Amino acid sequence: MDIIYVTGDDAMSKLLILEDEDSIRSFIRVNLKRSGFDVVEACTGEEALEKINESNISIAILDIMLPGIDGFEICKILREQYANNIGIIMLTARGQDEDKVNGLVLGADDYVVKPFSPQELVARVQALTRRLNASSNVNTEKKNNILSTGSFSIDLKEKRFFKEDEEIDLTPKEFNIIKLLMESPDNVVSRDEILNRVWGQNYIGDLKVVDVNIRRIRKKIEEDPASPKYLKTVWGVGYRLARGDKFEKY
Ligand code: CA
Repeated sequence: MDIIYVTGDDAMSKLLILEDEDSIRSFIRVNLKRSGFDVVEACTGEEALEKINESNISIAILDIMLPGIDGFEICKILREQYANNIGIIMLTARGQDEDKVNGLVLGADDYVVKPFSPQELVARVQALTRRLNASSNVNTEKKNNILSTGSFSIDLKEKRFFKEDEEIDLTPKEFNIIKLLMESPDNVVSRDEILNRVWGQNYIGDLKVVDVNIRRIRKKIEEDPASPKYLKTVWGVGYRLARGDKFEKY
């Protein structure tokens, strides 16, 4: 499903799970990984802060009751250190309504009540990811209406797409796909993610519609669509837009 990324940075961003109970932590990890998220784990607040400092975490999922610093305190520290550059979801206990209120007052973006289903947690994480991406896209547009990646650029305001200096006509769906891939250059974007973001969560249909559109885009941007240089297939996962030889990592 959704893979998260930071616009303008080729580092894949991650989720952090702070939960001291091993069984709950691995339950969350397994389900988020299955949905395509990259996950980092922490058992204590101290460990969570350390891991957030050293890697690019886009959303922290925080349990409240922990040995040492509790989840509320971590939430407060994260807001002070990272302002709104990190998403925060609190795990609250059933019946503890004051936990929700406290969490939201301290700056959490959302909360999930224990016990929760994997689907519910994944849905909350995806919703928050979309909100964070939407606000970062707004920021990008305000600064600069041009998004560029290697040989490609798009004018976000005019919805025009260019390869080097040549304008290439795309359908709205093709445009949205290429924009999504350009926002996360060199990183794989899953077919589910493309389907969800371009066709919407409520689209009922086959993932193949993604592949059909990718083939059409290749005909427009590749010199040899049968062996694409830019729009690469990552087998079993999805697609990525390569910026060109000098950036190749794999
Ligand atoms: Ca706990």
